[in-house]
Amino acid sequence: MANIEIATTTGRQVVLNADVIEQFLTGLRGGHLFQGDDGYDAARKIYNAMIEHRPAIIARCAGAADVISAVNFARNNGLLVSVRGGGHNVSGNAVCDGGLMIDLSPMKSVRVDPQGKTVRAEAGVTWGEFDRETQAFGLATTGGLVSTTGIAGLTLGGGLGWLMGNYGLACDNLISVDAVTADGRLLTASKSQNEDLFWGLRGGGGNFGIATSFEFQLHQVGPMVGGTLIHRLNKRFL
Ligand SMILES: Cc1cc2nc3c(=O)[nH]c(=O)nc-3n(C[C@H](O)[C@H](O)[C@H](O)COP(=O)(O)OP(=O)(O)OC[C@H]3O[C@@H](n4cnc5c(N)ncnc54)[C@H](O)[C@@H]3O)c2cc1C
Repeated sequence: MANIEIATTTGRQVVLNADVIEQFLTGLRGGHLFQGDDGYDAARKIYNAMIEHRPAIIARCAGAADVISAVNFARNNGLLVSVRGGGHNVSGNAVCDGGLMIDLSPMKSVRVDPQGKTVRAEAGVTWGEFDRETQAFGLATTGGLVSTTGIAGLTLGGGLGWLMGNYGLACDNLISVDAVTADGRLLTASKSQNEDLFWGLRGGGGNFGIATSFEFQLHQVGPMVGGTLIHRLNKRFL
């Protein structure tokens, strides 16, 4: 492995020593991608195709331990960081140019508790994947209107969706969130633990930490098919 030039939070580039990078990357369970690697372009591709950012390193996180390593590595070296959930944010914040992209999209675990009507889903899950698992039990919660949107960015931003008339926003249905804070600690935030962090995560976006998983309240809905009905406008009204 060679030394790498990488962007920092000051806007300057630094050259990171190959040994320092190797130590970080060999510990990552989910692996990593550099420019030119197979899969690099697919991993940096997001919903808004106009965004052409190229991170120096993409850390493909397989779980919370990888996220903690990435946060510590970035903090210790003052690196520019971006966090990718579902990649739907139109401004393209999920992909930084020249820095470290912490890619949560491989984190796909969804575990439904049908008796308790709750679910814990990891931060790389999209609403289509989430609904697939919860609908197996006729359960759902307020999620995005489009199935490819990530549960992470949408819920952290509040989250409008089909079921909000009955059950409120996505963030209103949050029971707890596991999040890695900037100092590299994994905290559980809920109404009874780290309450201030829980308050911030319910609408404050990605500003308070990197959410690794979300626990939601589910409701008996379906199994059903959702969607939008569009009627042809009658000529009489034109
Ligand atoms: C086609 C389309 C449909 C949409 N429909 C809806 C809708 O129905 N309802 C609605 O409310 N919004 C909707 N949105 C807006 C959408 O919720 C936001 O763009 C949201 O940020 C997308 O989340 P994501 O995880 O897919 O995106 P990303 O682009 O991956 O992330 C968005 C932001 O959140 C941060 N982030 C992502 N994951 C984490 C994490 N785990 N921890 C901390 N920060 C994180 C990222 O760094 C980035 O700044 C829609 C957007 C699009 C493009």
